[in-house]
Amino acid sequence: MKITFPHMGTIGILGEAIFKRFGREVILPPKTSKRTLTLGSRYSPEFACLPLKVTLGNLIEALENGADTILMLAASGPCRFGYYATLQNLILKNLDYEYELITLDYNMPNNLRKLKRLAKRKNCFQIGEAFRFGFLKLLTMEKMERLAHRIRPYEIKKGSTTKAYEETSRIIRRTFSFKKLRQARRKATSLLRGVSLNRTRNPLKIGVVGETYTVLEPYVNLEVERKLGEMGCEIHRPVWATDYIISMLPIFNRWGPRRKYRKAARPYLKQEVGGECIVSIGGTVLYARGGFDGIVHIAPFTCLPEIVAQGILSKVKKELNIPILTLVLDEHTAQAGLVTRLEAFVDLLERRRNKKVIGDR
Ligand code: SF4
Repeated sequence: MKITFPHMGTIGILGEAIFKRFGREVILPPKTSKRTLTLGSRYSPEFACLPLKVTLGNLIEALENGADTILMLAASGPCRFGYYATLQNLILKNLDYEYELITLDYNMPNNLRKLKRLAKRKNCFQIGEAFRFGFLKLLTMEKMERLAHRIRPYEIKKGSTTKAYEETSRIIRRTFSFKKLRQARRKATSLLRGVSLNRTRNPLKIGVVGETYTVLEPYVNLEVERKLGEMGCEIHRPVWATDYIISMLPIFNRWGPRRKYRKAARPYLKQEVGGECIVSIGGTVLYARGGFDGIVHIAPFTCLPEIVAQGILSKVKKELNIPILTLVLDEHTAQAGLVTRLEAFVDLLERRRNKKVIGDR
């Protein structure tokens, strides 16, 4: 059995760690690239949302590399994510790929049965330890990402934070025991703290909100966070893979990390409409109240939850007086156009801050 699953930011670290501890072979898709997007777009319906196309490309590339078991998350409405596994299965079967599809959804007893089969002859304690290790590893990676977001706007040599972060990512990925993970965390932290900084700067604070996959996957969002960081902005975001996983567990669904965003969004939206709509709104409200300079809202083309969010955010923007730039991305979005829009937005925020002008864009 050679297991694979699509990329979504750093989330692959979790699956890889768990299944390697189960004694399974994991074949991760190659890093998402132009070829991934081309393959995914070629075989997906044109109206499908961008994450479906990219993850389909990931699966095709992994199957080409020898994977024979696909692990996918599934969900039930109202967002189209619930159909991904079914639709991608149909497409891949039509393309004559041979594999077994395993889906995990909100049905926990069912999921546990499936995972038990994947866990070879591991007992409950070993399965629990595998999950704990995978989650810790992912959490460590996210801590490094947060640290990179904080220090990037102060870096003296452009790109030095990204270089250090990539090295930390390599160090953490190569770790497969608790003891080594502790050592790797120390080494990775000191690598990032070793970046030369100019602490006299006063960077703009920008919140990046939007659809989970598009926010987490740097190839898909054209590395918006890195670009903004290198333009001198400190990035914060409400969407993290660990929060996403916790929110999938029924006990945390109501009380988990989304709770504060639901509460903050309540004056504008009273109930969930799927995807990250409520987090985009709640996150924007909290960032505006926290004195942030601006918000970048990322949405895949035709994503219904983020279309709803976009409409509501125009009201939030006026009421809380915070500039918002919405980026709608699809497979045709070009780097150059995006950079120009980001530069113009950052320029506007700088002038707004310098002149202390209260007003709208
Ligand atoms: S949140 Fe949007 S982009 Fe993501 S699956 Fe749902 S509709 Fe598609």
